Amino acid sequence: MSLNPSKIVCVGKNYLDHAKEMGSELPKDPLLFLKPPSALIEAGQPIVLPALSSHVEHEAEIAVVIASRLRHADETEAMRGVAGFVCLNDVTARDWQKRESQWARAKGFDTFCPLGSRAVPVADWRTLEVIGRVNGVVRQHGKARDMHFGIPFLVSHISQFFTLEPGDVIATGTPAGVGRLAPGDTVEVEIPGVGVLRNPVVAA
Ligand code: MG
Repeated sequence: MSLNPSKIVCVGKNYLDHAKEMGSELPKDPLLFLKPPSALIEAGQPIVLPALSSHVEHEAEIAVVIASRLRHADETEAMRGVAGFVCLNDVTARDWQKRESQWARAKGFDTFCPLGSRAVPVADWRTLEVIGRVNGVVRQHGKARDMHFGIPFLVSHISQFFTLEPGDVIATGTPAGVGRLAPGDTVEVEIPGVGVLRNPVVAA
């Protein structure tokens, strides 16, 4: 694994169309949760559908990779401390997410964090787009400029709570179109100009 984050900070409900499809509203403050590093896999490694869940979904996301330690950073400092961007799949056990208010289990199963291999610098984060495909069919297509909370604000905000270390990853939320995964599927997250992250899906 080329990227080795000490933590993976995730933002929930950051696109209006996804909040709507989940039957909720946009949050007043960023909705934050963590995925454990034990969930990380690389491109090509299988997403394992756990026996304890009967409903696992893909969430294609733009992730930020931190280059230098950030603590209480303002937005300018925050963006100076960003190494670049990478594809991330915030794989989620929707059944576990719906039955409890904390998402550690729903989001934290082993293999539930496919992550691209390297950070790619981009001049303007607002130009980024993210596409999610299952078996070659486009299911999600989001634009960073449609985020509820933009990337400079998110990095700065998160650094008020957690010291961000070099290599740490921030997943910035998923657009509409999340859907169920089944054994035998191939799921892709593409950020044009950054990369494609492709993983097969297998049963436990
Ligand atoms: Mg997500």
